[in-house]
Amino acid sequence: MSEFFDPYNADKPLMLKCSCGRDHTVADHQAEEASATQAAATLRERSETSEFEAYSREFIEATLVKALFPQDAVRRSFLRAVGKGTAMAAIASVLPVASLQAMAQEKKSLEKTNLKIGFIPITCATPLIMAHPLGFYKREGLNVEVIKTAGWALIRDKMINKEYDATHFLSPMPLAISMGVGSNSVPMNVATIQNTNGQAITLHVKHKDKRDPKEWKGFKFAVPFEFSMHNFLLRYYVAEHGLNPDTDIQIRVVPPPEMVANLRAGNIDGYLGPDPFNQRAVYDEVGFLHVLTKDLWYGHPCCAFGTSTEFIKQNPNTFAALYRSVLTAAAMARQAKNRELIAKVISPQAYLNQPETVVAQVLTGRFADGLGKIQNVPDRADFDPMPWQSMAVWMLTQMQRWGYVKGDVNYKQIAEQVFLITDARKYMKELGQDFKAGPAYEKHTIMGKVFDPAKPVEYLNSFAIKKA
Ligand SMILES: [Zn+2]
Ligand SMILES: [Zn+2]
Repeated sequence: MSEFFDPYNADKPLMLKCSCGRDHTVADHQAEEASATQAAATLRERSETSEFEAYSREFIEATLVKALFPQDAVRRSFLRAVGKGTAMAAIASVLPVASLQAMAQEKKSLEKTNLKIGFIPITCATPLIMAHPLGFYKREGLNVEVIKTAGWALIRDKMINKEYDATHFLSPMPLAISMGVGSNSVPMNVATIQNTNGQAITLHVKHKDKRDPKEWKGFKFAVPFEFSMHNFLLRYYVAEHGLNPDTDIQIRVVPPPEMVANLRAGNIDGYLGPDPFNQRAVYDEVGFLHVLTKDLWYGHPCCAFGTSTEFIKQNPNTFAALYRSVLTAAAMARQAKNRELIAKVISPQAYLNQPETVVAQVLTGRFADGLGKIQNVPDRADFDPMPWQSMAVWMLTQMQRWGYVKGDVNYKQIAEQVFLITDARKYMKELGQDFKAGPAYEKHTIMGKVFDPAKPVEYLNSFAIKKA
């Protein structure tokens, strides 16, 4: 094939191929970039209105208060006991997260300003990606380079080798790395969850009549990484339908950007993958959306924003500035009215390098499902940053269930070490704010079955299908 033209393609007019690799003209490419620049300018304007600033400040504060008081009844009794002023002062003194608001005024000196942040080009990473073109990092005095990375193993290695300062993680990864499962043990933290919901099981179009998972024996599936919600949810889903994911189907690791090509080539029958690659399979007419993961576990966490514990200790102010940038972006991404513009901003080559219409279908929740229907599911993807420690406990039970972790696991200790909220409680205690905070544990319902984080062993033992 020639490098600049594609003269032997019967489906396309003869045109100059675009250097970004996408199937469009250079003029289309330039038009997309221009519309992305304009969308970024509009969003930046929105972010500078006093209305958004007030909303974003409250969003960050509410996130912190929720982190400290996951049980609403406890929050209310604490406020009644100490009063709003004391409560606010206590929260503001909680490091590293709660000094955020004060920091904006004080301009504390940043320990490090030139930062490298890794990301995988998927919509999960929307907040940490969009913070770049919208200037949120810059506003905090940070010079951030967001670096597109080929796969999750590389992300892990670059974090362990300190080539990246912070990164887009799959939320189970910091647990695995901290425990030394699959790599050396290096303490890592989840600072915020990036996205909730937003994944799907995509099947090849030839399987449109095989909607019952019982018919999937012998199927080959892809997931982005072993330590991913994708792997755990796919395993959970097929097991609930009576299939053993280790013996009845095959699961292989495929980097998300290669999933559609593997589906097209027939190497796999489907995948539980991140978007935009579920929607991209529909766009390319090679796959259809079998089920959205929000219908397996509503509000499940997927990706995270995190860094090493060492980085946080050495650079507390820089970490707080980063945290604030990403939370500001999350505040904006949660507002439905911004989603179309965000799709324009993150679609170009530097970020997702995907057709804008694909990304927009994911973020707005108005999409073609590949089965002939246009669906309207506004909560298909969301960006709730709250890192519930109960979510970490659930991930640990699944790591045990499928044999990634052997022996006893100290669920609470690991969850509280890796998912950042507890430090906040520790600081509160040091401040003499000795309140009976309920831990950041919530019950979750996955495919109709309740997971109680207080009883992980009973939960694990309740499954008939697991690794022997
Ligand atoms: Zn292009
Ligand atoms: Zn994700």
